[in-house]
Amino acid sequence: MVNSNVWKSLTASFKEQHVTLVAVSKTKPVADIQELYDLGQRDFGENYVQELSEKESQLPADIRWHYIGHLQSNKVKYIAPFVHMIHAVDSFKLLLEINKQAAKNNRTIDVLLQLFIADEETKFGLDEKEIIELLDYYDAQKADLQHIRICGLMGMASNTDNETQIRAEFDRLYNVFLNLKQSSFLGKNYFKICSMGMSSDYKIAIEAGSTMVRIGSMLFGARNYNQ
Ligand SMILES: *Cc1c(COP(=O)(O)O)cnc(C)c1O
Repeated sequence: MVNSNVWKSLTASFKEQHVTLVAVSKTKPVADIQELYDLGQRDFGENYVQELSEKESQLPADIRWHYIGHLQSNKVKYIAPFVHMIHAVDSFKLLLEINKQAAKNNRTIDVLLQLFIADEETKFGLDEKEIIELLDYYDAQKADLQHIRICGLMGMASNTDNETQIRAEFDRLYNVFLNLKQSSFLGKNYFKICSMGMSSDYKIAIEAGSTMVRIGSMLFGARNYNQ
């Protein structure tokens, strides 16, 4: 069930704050996505390749699909024909594969690099040093990587009630984002996305500078993985 009043109030305030809302529709039926689409939502996020491909084939072509999960290189080919943005790039190998598959489809795919900010072992992502290393490789091979555009960073805060900690993690992500914007990506206007904030912490994320939030359960209700 879609919570259309929540969608309306969120989109009204995000418009003022210049924040893009990605509606995270994972595990939710196509009918729910269509309902939000009919209200005007165009950016949707999914984190399983097969689920995304099935939904994409049944829904309007002007939806901007965001792949927000951990992506395996061997699955890039399934989403390369249509995906709008890949949020959680965490290796140079994956970047190369996205470039290759984008080239095959005659398009450019926008990506975000995932910075690891949480205090948990389970979350994917790069640390700051690894991002710098990856960008060095990227610069060295830029001529061959014409089919990807690195548009910013993405991160997930720790799963905790400690707001001070969450704020510190988002502050760190935003600072790395700003530093890159003013160094490696100086003058590159497309490097402008700092994707952080979910249902439980999006307010803190926006205060910390988020330009794109990924919200699921607040819009679609709690997920039931046992169905
Ligand atoms: C599921 C998911 C979200 C949305 O989470 P909610 O708590 O439902 O808002 C955001 N980002 C990522 C990467 C996710 O996997």
